[in-house]
Amino acid sequence: DNIYDVLIIGAGPIGIACGIEAKKNKLKHIILEKGCLVNSLYNYPINMSFFSTSERLEIGDTPFVTTNPKPKRAEALEYYRRVERKFDLNCKLFEEVLSVRKVDHVFHVNSSKGNYQAKNVVIATGFYDIPIYLNVPGEELEKVRHYYDDPHYYANQKVVVVGASNSSIDAALETFRKGAEVTLVVRGPEISPRVKYWVRPDIENRIAFGEVKAYFNSNITAITEEEVEIETPEGKIILENDFVLALTGYRPNFNFLLKLGIEVPEIAPCIPVHNPETMETNVKGMYLAGVVCGGLNTHLWFIENSRIHASLIMKAICEGHQ
Ligand code: FAD
Repeated sequence: DNIYDVLIIGAGPIGIACGIEAKKNKLKHIILEKGCLVNSLYNYPINMSFFSTSERLEIGDTPFVTTNPKPKRAEALEYYRRVERKFDLNCKLFEEVLSVRKVDHVFHVNSSKGNYQAKNVVIATGFYDIPIYLNVPGEELEKVRHYYDDPHYYANQKVVVVGASNSSIDAALETFRKGAEVTLVVRGPEISPRVKYWVRPDIENRIAFGEVKAYFNSNITAITEEEVEIETPEGKIILENDFVLALTGYRPNFNFLLKLGIEVPEIAPCIPVHNPETMETNVKGMYLAGVVCGGLNTHLWFIENSRIHASLIMKAICEGHQ
């Protein structure tokens, strides 16, 4: 019949891992992805290196070979594309899931291209689609970016980078090395301890030598075409500015989860309700996989520790937890 055993939403590393595990368990599967294959990774900065070594990014017991200490974005795209082909997954790209409705134990899934029926649904939608906004006047200006891709664009420009996590620090260092005049605005007192241990001394030295200007315990409070206003412990300052890279994190699409009937507590970290042993949500037969499980706590799950969700879910489905 036309009813899938499992419909997976999202073809990130973990959605693909779920597809592989479904196939291994002889479950009829389909993956619907709104963008290209591993869409989030595709949209990472062009030169990005992972913080994980390659074996920790592996899925489907398939070696991820690289001669770099940490793989680069381009290698990861190549790897996941080859893995998806190796397992011949039923993966539909550029097809967004719009709604899911449960009628008599069967999920009716409506996408931008069609309708499907499935006995189980896995949500592996990640968190990279919605930036956490600064909520300051001027944020809507074209010069304010919440995603950073390539440093060359910012050559000879006055760039403010907001944030002190890996994305911000990578962007600050790369744009500095392509001739941008970089100012870092950090809400807390220091560079995040999560910053890759081999990158941290680099940024600390650039700040110490005055090559990158940094304001700690500070917030950007307004942005205009030519300036930014920053609230610092010493008072308000105004800087001339060409671009703002507001790399202040991302969050899962809670509205989408709520629309699907999944309960999400209002209090941070807003972890969507699920059973950690089976990954099943409060909606029977609907499961969460990958980084979406962490709610606002986007550092809780990553590829290495959430690959396991695929086997937990397929085991639960096969054992008839639904
Ligand atoms: P994602 O890869 O985000 O995949 C979710 C997919 O769902 C996306 O392709 C999205 O387009 C799709 N989607 C969303 N909504 C819909 C919808 N309604 N319909 C259809 N499709 C939809 N983790 C590590 O383990 N090691 C690292 O070194 C590492 N480095 C990182 C660097 C950066 C810059 C960032 C942002 C993250 C990094 N992470 C790293 C975290 C890593 O990105 C995630 O762990 C990984 O992408 C999670 O995989 P996922 O499959 O859960 O989600």
